[in-house]
Amino acid sequence: MKAYSILNHLNLSIRQKITFAFAIPLLLMTLVAALLYVSSNRQNETAKWVEHTHQVISQANQLLRLLIDMETGQRGYVITGNEVFLEPFYKAKKVWSSEIDSLSRLVSDNPEQVERLVKIDLLQKEWLAKAAQKAINARAKVTTSDLTTSDLTSMNTVISMIDAQTGKVIIDIIRQIKSQFIQAEETLLSARKVSAEQAIDSVKLIVVFGTVAILLLAGFLSVYIYRYIAKSLEKLVTTTKQIASGDFDHSVIINSNDEFFTLGQNFNLMSQSLKESIEAMESAVKVKTEFLANMSHEIRTPMNGILGMLTLLEDTNLSKQQLEYIQSIRSCGDGLLVVINDILDISKLEAGKLELEQRAFELRLMVNETCYLLDGMASQKGITISILIDDKLPKLLVGDRLRIRQILLNLLSNAIKFTNKGTVKLNLSLHSLSEGDCSFTIEVIDQGIGIAADDLDKLFKPFSQVDTSTTRLYGGTGLGLIICAQLIKQMGGKISVTSEEGQGSTFSLTLNLAVAEKLLNNEQNTLINNKLELSSQFPLTILVAEDNNINQIIAKKLFSKLGYQVDIAVNGKLAVTAVKNKDYDMIFMDMQMPEMDGVTATKEILKLAGKENMPIVAMTANVLADDKQRCFEAGMVGFVGKPINIDNIIDEIIRLKGSKITNGA
Ligand code: ADP
Repeated sequence: MKAYSILNHLNLSIRQKITFAFAIPLLLMTLVAALLYVSSNRQNETAKWVEHTHQVISQANQLLRLLIDMETGQRGYVITGNEVFLEPFYKAKKVWSSEIDSLSRLVSDNPEQVERLVKIDLLQKEWLAKAAQKAINARAKVTTSDLTTSDLTSMNTVISMIDAQTGKVIIDIIRQIKSQFIQAEETLLSARKVSAEQAIDSVKLIVVFGTVAILLLAGFLSVYIYRYIAKSLEKLVTTTKQIASGDFDHSVIINSNDEFFTLGQNFNLMSQSLKESIEAMESAVKVKTEFLANMSHEIRTPMNGILGMLTLLEDTNLSKQQLEYIQSIRSCGDGLLVVINDILDISKLEAGKLELEQRAFELRLMVNETCYLLDGMASQKGITISILIDDKLPKLLVGDRLRIRQILLNLLSNAIKFTNKGTVKLNLSLHSLSEGDCSFTIEVIDQGIGIAADDLDKLFKPFSQVDTSTTRLYGGTGLGLIICAQLIKQMGGKISVTSEEGQGSTFSLTLNLAVAEKLLNNEQNTLINNKLELSSQFPLTILVAEDNNINQIIAKKLFSKLGYQVDIAVNGKLAVTAVKNKDYDMIFMDMQMPEMDGVTATKEILKLAGKENMPIVAMTANVLADDKQRCFEAGMVGFVGKPINIDNIIDEIIRLKGSKITNGA
């Protein structure tokens, strides 16, 4: 651990760390190799020395053999007088000097041995002069066949020389010095052998310890580098994960001064600027959403009044002309509502806040309803809508009926809008049916003005109208198709278009929906035909909390169309008091009210004893997902947007009173 922290404190770059990790064991390996080289050289040298010593000893023995040859030759001759014996004597004598020289050269590094050789040489020469040569000369004078007096004298000289043992003494000294010489060499030899063994041992130690040390060091450095890199990468990976999950406050901390540190710092800077951009974007989206919500609320409230009052006006005695005027106002009002809804839808889709419902619905009924809604528009232009539905298509599917209807309405109304005569076809065909899933295609085919090939790719882009002149001619926001495309995408489907200018267009979409076995009670709203039937099917005491005068009148009128006489509370506080004083079966609650808003009033009512399960439905011009969320969090169980559509009220009553009440939508 200490070594780790030392390495960390060195503040090396990753490249330096890796180089360091390779260089140190490499250096150690070089050192071990150098030591091995030196010790193997030493071994070689020792081996040479051993060989040299053997050579010296062998030459020293050879020298002794020469001496013996000389001595035995001389003695043989002296005893026998046979000159044959002198042959080895002279031979040895002849090579003696060169042998001495050669041996002297071999031991030239050892002065003691050289001195011994000098002594041996001198003694040999002394032996030759004082003993050997003299005896040979004396013996040469003796004739063997017939001994004369002089012969006898010579012989006596020889015998006296032998008796005096001059030669023997010298030879013995030579032998002694030669023994010392060989012994000195042998001592040297054994010392060299010991040093050779020591060299081998030290080589072994170097190999074993050096290898272990290199392995340990390499292992330690590899682990250090691996751990360091892995740890730093882990920090980066963890942080990227955290940032990917939206936690931008997490930063990478790397306590070193290398590339990882720079990477970490840059990463932190990047996530910081990403955080700032996202915050700026979120606040911009929030501001936009709030603005849209406010605008939508501000527009919807008077629109509710205008359209509601029109409904009331329609029920009064009117001349034909007045009725036509009212229908024109309604058509304009409906158009305005379409624009508001389109803008709201697109902003919800962009913010990813559009939620799709998953409820069972009747496919054919939905198609017929849609065509029925457009029948007036088509017949006004002399266009017929022909519907062809594949018999193999299931009756009931699960999905967002209203959103699918919205897509069909948009495609069909475009087809009618951009067609001047002929037929608009709506074909539904089964694609595949498997394991409870139904894939089917809806085609909207018209014989209208068509779209130029170059303009086809503009169709699904926001606010793009193929030709601005068509806007002036046919009206529209240019948002319909992009909303359709996005809704279809969110449903997991696809939309495509083929068109030919002057010939017509075909919009085709493929959806994949689950097949439903039966409709639940709360999904049977569309089956109600006579609206007055509702109050007899579900007799209810209803309270409407609404502060706006006009909306109060409209609400009363709409509910009375369903057969209900509702009580009105003009703010949240009065709604709470009303609930305390009377038993209501259901409450429709506005969100924005003076004194106490709808959300607070809902919470207060649900806190009252015995009112914990009171079904409260929001009835508000705040129609964004966040508003809905606030309503459901407060305990409301339904939601009706303004301008109030009578069908939505029917929906909620059947849903909440036709089945067990559940919180949330
Ligand atoms: P808008 O509300 O303007 O109709 P859309 O997104 O529904 O918006 O359509 C965008 C444009 O695509 C239209 O203005 C029109 O130029 C073109 N378009 C859509 N459907 C058709 C069609 N069936 N035939 C010809 N042009 C069409």
